[in-house]
Amino acid sequence: MSRRSDQEEICTHLGDDYDRYLGAIVPPIFQNTLFTRKTVDHGYTYMRVANPTTEIAEQKIAALESGEAGLCFSSGMGAISAVLISLLEQGSHVIYPLNVYGPTRTFIAGYMSRFGVEATAVQGSDLQEIEQAIRPNTRVIYLESPLSNTFELQDLRAVAELAQSRGITTVIDNTWATPLLQNPLLLGVDIVVHSASKYLGGHSDILGGVVVGGRERLARISREERGLFGAVMDPHQAWLLIRGLRTLPVRMRQHEESALRIAAFLEAHPCVERVLYPGLRSDPQYELGQSQMSGYSGLMSFVPRCGSDRVLGLIKGLRLFEEGPSWGGFESLINSPGLWLDEETSVRHGIPRGLLRISIGLENAESLMEDLDQALRSL
Ligand SMILES: *Cc1c(COP(=O)(O)O)cnc(C)c1O
Repeated sequence: MSRRSDQEEICTHLGDDYDRYLGAIVPPIFQNTLFTRKTVDHGYTYMRVANPTTEIAEQKIAALESGEAGLCFSSGMGAISAVLISLLEQGSHVIYPLNVYGPTRTFIAGYMSRFGVEATAVQGSDLQEIEQAIRPNTRVIYLESPLSNTFELQDLRAVAELAQSRGITTVIDNTWATPLLQNPLLLGVDIVVHSASKYLGGHSDILGGVVVGGRERLARISREERGLFGAVMDPHQAWLLIRGLRTLPVRMRQHEESALRIAAFLEAHPCVERVLYPGLRSDPQYELGQSQMSGYSGLMSFVPRCGSDRVLGLIKGLRLFEEGPSWGGFESLINSPGLWLDEETSVRHGIPRGLLRISIGLENAESLMEDLDQALRSL
């Protein structure tokens, strides 16, 4: 069987146990805080420790990532903060890409400094720059590839190899690619985190986070950071995540097909200056992307020629794209992450003030292109 067909079977059927659940074709939601052990000990105690519904979601995502174990959290940030706290301590140092997801940057560079953790931002696509940022106390190299505003990649094999040779742990946020399009553990990265609030859930109705990695490390995170901070996933959230995962392969196929067409359409459009999307052959990191990803999801950015003062008008002129900062759901979305930056920050981060980020949803691709075309031309 191909990896793809394995993954499709994991999404649809892994964790099915009809004998255990009275033949129910969909596993039940164990909506109970306590498991009694008076007559038989089934191995469960309390909802903050483990829950059978949540464990199905954890098994599925761990298998999709080819990891030994998975852990679900109440949100992506719950997962990311738990992993980082488990790896860092007073006096340790972490390297991260400057354009990492905003709250992650705030956590690493702002919040953790209260506890004596040092942090260095790198641009990320240059291995030498990462190597030069390493200090004797570097414990973690945090990655996010592609970055979710500018879509630059890090060379995952090379960074993982470098980190391994220095005894540094690598962590990657794999939310953009999903486990269907990129499996960082197979490239040597140590720990994968996901926001399940995006493609994994896929319907813009749950928050969730997942960590995948080695069994021992995850058992410790479960006992310590997840158990002690308590950001566990609720079983109803897990049940919706399991439901989302069943359609992940068909949804991702559609997101990719539409996004590739729309990226090419925007690139050729006279009112568009630039498209940032690693699936375009013209992308400077196209070859690297091909070597570490098996496909492309539906989030990209573009810079219209109209100037930053008119992008809000462009957003208002769209019929099918709703305005908002999230992504990965069924619905097409647009937002303007550069507009709120001052000139200096915009230049330093390489995020033009007029940059627009779009999440290509499951609507008809032709209709989305027509909509973008009329809004661009009306300016
Ligand atoms: C949304 C997001 C997160 C955080 O996930 P939440 O579930 O909202 O906490 C982390 N990383 C990336 C890339 C995201 O887009």
